[in-house]
Amino acid sequence: MEQMVTCICCPVGCRMTVTLNESGEFVSVTGNTCARGANYARQECTAPERMITAVIPVSGSPVPLSVKTEKPVPKALIFEIMKEIRALNVPLPVSIGQVVCPNVLNTGVNIIATRGLS
Ligand code: SF4
Repeated sequence: MEQMVTCICCPVGCRMTVTLNESGEFVSVTGNTCARGANYARQECTAPERMITAVIPVSGSPVPLSVKTEKPVPKALIFEIMKEIRALNVPLPVSIGQVVCPNVLNTGVNIIATRGLS
């Protein structure tokens, strides 16, 4: 089975063809210009990940708080992680980079504030 993947690791945007076996395991990739692209293609076809960004209301602040995952998380968990983020109740003040949800859903990834609020 073949899958087409566009590399998003740099502006070149190489179009790659990934071959998977019948079990969905990675076999090979062509079309990448560098090893970064090959790693991205393997990850994207076998265990895709995404960064999550969101804004949440904060009691006592007229301005919402922007947050993000510190690292990419499994794409399959995005919906559940968004539910966790929406349920957060972050007290003021908040500093930029502050962990507002440690180890979300036991992924080993923290949710952090991307701005400060006081
Ligand atoms: S394969 Fe390498 S050169 Fe091509 S888009 Fe990805 S990072 Fe850039």
